[in-house]
Amino acid sequence: MSAHIGVTGLAVMGANLARNLARNGFTVALHNRSVEKTDVLLEKHGHDGDFVRTETLQELVDSLEKPRRVLIMVKAGKPVDSVIEQLEPLLEPGDIIIDAGNSHYEDTRRREAALAAKDLHFVGIGVSGGEEGALNGPSIMPGGSKESYDALGPLLEKIAAQVDGKPCCAWIGTDGAGHFVKMVHNGIEYADMQVIGEAFDLLRSGAGIEPAEQSKIFAEWNQGDLASFLIEISAEVLGHVDSKTGKPFVDVLVDAAGQKGTGRWTVISALELGSPTSGIAESVFARALSSQAEQRKLAQELLAGEEIDVEVPATFVEDVRQALYASKLVSYAQGLDMLTSAAKEYGWDLKLDEIASLWRGGCIIRAELLKEITKAYAAEEKPANLLFAPAFTKAIAEVLPAWRRVVATAVQLGIPVPVFSSSLAYYDGLRRKRLPAAVIQGQRDLFGAHTYGRVDAEGTFHTLWGEDKSEIAAVDTH
Ligand code: NAP
Repeated sequence: MSAHIGVTGLAVMGANLARNLARNGFTVALHNRSVEKTDVLLEKHGHDGDFVRTETLQELVDSLEKPRRVLIMVKAGKPVDSVIEQLEPLLEPGDIIIDAGNSHYEDTRRREAALAAKDLHFVGIGVSGGEEGALNGPSIMPGGSKESYDALGPLLEKIAAQVDGKPCCAWIGTDGAGHFVKMVHNGIEYADMQVIGEAFDLLRSGAGIEPAEQSKIFAEWNQGDLASFLIEISAEVLGHVDSKTGKPFVDVLVDAAGQKGTGRWTVISALELGSPTSGIAESVFARALSSQAEQRKLAQELLAGEEIDVEVPATFVEDVRQALYASKLVSYAQGLDMLTSAAKEYGWDLKLDEIASLWRGGCIIRAELLKEITKAYAAEEKPANLLFAPAFTKAIAEVLPAWRRVVATAVQLGIPVPVFSSSLAYYDGLRRKRLPAAVIQGQRDLFGAHTYGRVDAEGTFHTLWGEDKSEIAAVDTH
């Protein structure tokens, strides 16, 4: 029997994707470096569909229909290069190697270029949804050539999450576009999780609302325009009671979160692109700060608080909900704007409506809001920034007073809200007529003759600061 697709790397993600493919009627050839995992999968889940057991990559390749599709799901980094190196001599022009792991998009661009020179397709696909998604329908973001998508897309669309009869999978763009979009998805996920955390802190420290009660509030919020997977699971986490101590579960957790993965990559890439993704950056930094246990301990002893006694308004819970909505929207706006910058940089034709649409199901940031975001980018006139789409301009105008009240209250009470406040600063920075960047340009010209532009003339200028302070036309050499 020739298989439709081969999967090599059968740890939890690879095994679940292989089972998902088989359950959807595809014959799947299985391979793992150590054969035990293949046998465990066949023993436990062989009944899921048609599988072909193979022990070597040669057997895997020989078992596939042409053009061959080989999906690699091994540990990201060097192991992916190693598997590609072993596969490449076994394949023929037109065959497709797929990397569905969490690879960095620059690695994907490098691998794609190297394999294209040998007439092999290399497709980096971003997969979101964790183990459960991989088995029951993830959100899938494939890159690589359009031609390879024609051969691969029908399989991927079948196993992806489906929302309103549409698969959460679409061709994203060439080479590393799929992995790039998945990375930014994860960056948005970081910010989305952080704003929920900030809302929790505000309700607890500002209004004294205990986790159990907050669980009900979050469940209620999940019925409105904040409805999303992350709000839903937050309600569950906050409602959970620790069986050992009887305390709210959240109170027995160490309050330090790691940030070594795709969130950090997103921020590094945003800096390289000059893209102001402050919400995502603040969410990564908030995790970094949370992990500075020693300094946090010392700061509690050494640093003054001096909170300002403010009356928390009666509308506080609703205010926090509205501020959460606005901050979350800014995080999406910044992430999508970063995609626009990346599209220019890497020559990708990213369709933001399709990307928003395939995030509606299967993935961690799935949310009601994405329906409206999809609509905004599907409009004939695409907004230059998500916040400029009429629906969101109006929505933010409605919640702006609450957003300002919440940030002001948080600052007065000494409650850190890095993403709530930086998102508001981004919003105000965007709409401000004059920014203090003018002062910076003056400083740079004075100390480094970096030159400046004028609002009333074309060209570049320099002031002779050390002489008579007259202005000369200059060529910017910096
Ligand atoms: P993993 O723990 O990252 O990797 C284990 C697998 O890689 C095993 O099959 C192992 O084979 C194989 N492997 C490691 N080094 C190898 C090498 N040098 N040559 C050949 N095979 C090698 O597996 P995972 O947790 O299933 O994750 C797979 C990928 O999915 C990773 O990129 C991970 O980051 C990503 N991931 C994505 C999500 C998501 O939500 N999208 C969630 C989790 C993980 P042996 O059995 O022989 O050791």
